[in-house]
Amino acid sequence: MDKQKFTSDLLVVGAGIAGLTAALETAETGFTVSLIEKMPNIGGRVAQLNQYFPKLCPPSCGLEVNIRRLRDNPKINLSTLAEVVSVEGEPGDYTVKVKITPRYINEDATDTDIENCIDKCATVLKNDFNYGLDNRKAIFLPYNNAFPMKYVFDKDALSDDEAKNIASVCSDIIDLDQKEEIVEMRVKAIIWATGWTPYNADNLTELRYKGNANVITNVELERLASANGPTGGKIQIAGKDSKIDKIAFVQSAGSRDENHQEFCSTICCMASLKQVRYIREEFPDAEIYICYIDIRTPGCYEDFYEESKKDEKLHLKRGKIAKVINDPNSDQMIVESEDTLGTGLDQIKVDLVVLATGMKPNTDTFPDKTMLDGCGFIKTDKDRGIIACGVCAAPNDVASSVQDATGAAMKAIHIIKEGK
Ligand SMILES: Cc1cc2nc3c(=O)[nH]c(=O)nc-3n(C[C@H](O)[C@H](O)[C@H](O)COP(=O)(O)OP(=O)(O)OC[C@H]3O[C@@H](n4cnc5c(N)ncnc54)[C@H](O)[C@@H]3O)c2cc1C
Repeated sequence: MDKQKFTSDLLVVGAGIAGLTAALETAETGFTVSLIEKMPNIGGRVAQLNQYFPKLCPPSCGLEVNIRRLRDNPKINLSTLAEVVSVEGEPGDYTVKVKITPRYINEDATDTDIENCIDKCATVLKNDFNYGLDNRKAIFLPYNNAFPMKYVFDKDALSDDEAKNIASVCSDIIDLDQKEEIVEMRVKAIIWATGWTPYNADNLTELRYKGNANVITNVELERLASANGPTGGKIQIAGKDSKIDKIAFVQSAGSRDENHQEFCSTICCMASLKQVRYIREEFPDAEIYICYIDIRTPGCYEDFYEESKKDEKLHLKRGKIAKVINDPNSDQMIVESEDTLGTGLDQIKVDLVVLATGMKPNTDTFPDKTMLDGCGFIKTDKDRGIIACGVCAAPNDVASSVQDATGAAMKAIHIIKEGK
């Protein structure tokens, strides 16, 4: 094997908390790492949370320390807007083709030049970072603490004519001559850390997500509660400024359900209990209902659950939700459930419904679909060179994803040193 020809020892695909951890652990042991991320910024879904359970600290407290480690480590080569196109080879020697999309922004443009252009650019697009709850310009910074702190021109979301128009208005900062590149990398091991996407709530027709501003998902609530979110941290129903008095969480929305995702995402009960704390700060008198099949708060999370139960205006209702309907006499929604511990079929009228949707593993670009388990997660098999960590490997919280990533780094180091 000709060592000179390797791009790096390890390729990590995905720079969320799991991929970032795997890359850092491997690089800090002395190996070289190519870390690729398909978005313009790293941090994954964690960057979109308001606070982490169980400590309720902002996600920046976990991410910033890792970003500092990344900045300080010359052994990691980060590429953003980068995706795997193909993988060939075997443990010890892989050739991977990676597509890198440019930012289409002149390298020497100053932030002031760019901000002046953003003011001139009239085109707005849905802001993915806020799950489409607000809009952003076609030239944008992913969010205020993004790393890398670099602007992007979202050319691919525009027609050619729209892109050319904006480029002519902002000719001093936009460079449409920058071209997409296919880069070939030769590496000894690969770690997949591609994470998850929220289950598509549009599929939950019986829960009336589509078309009702007062039916939102748990990830949207994270953004509404965030100081850098679309409402500056004010939890409100789109288009309304009225007080929210009653809220229902629908647990396992699209999870543990053979018509949607059959598995339990494991974190949604903790996510809802955490979100009750945010809501309580803003609406001290609100009546909050959590409608659940089972509350799953494993290990030490049981303490968080016990503490939450002290909230007298939090009502835990056991029973699968049958449906959500529009109240014909008001703007409220009616949540109909079978309360298996109480009164049988029950209806609650609420101002806001939060669907606790689960996590769907991201495996679109994972090349060997035979290595997905029955729920669609990537199965690690070191002998075949398949190493996955974080939520693309199993539905998990941040702490477990980080532990998993450290284990993945160990497996990758073994392959780097031994070939298998
Ligand atoms: C509503 C909700 C609230 C939550 N709150 C908490 C909480 O308070 N505390 C907690 O511990 N956990 C929480 N979680 C769970 C937490 O979000 C996950 O544990 C965490 O995101 C897992 O990180 P990850 O790196 O595996 O995945 P991700 O965060 O999804 O990161 C994956 C990265 O890979 C990138 N990627 C994807 N595909 C590709 C590709 N093909 N090529 C290159 N890059 C790619 C993505 O863009 C992303 O940056 C919550 C989950 C939900 C649904």
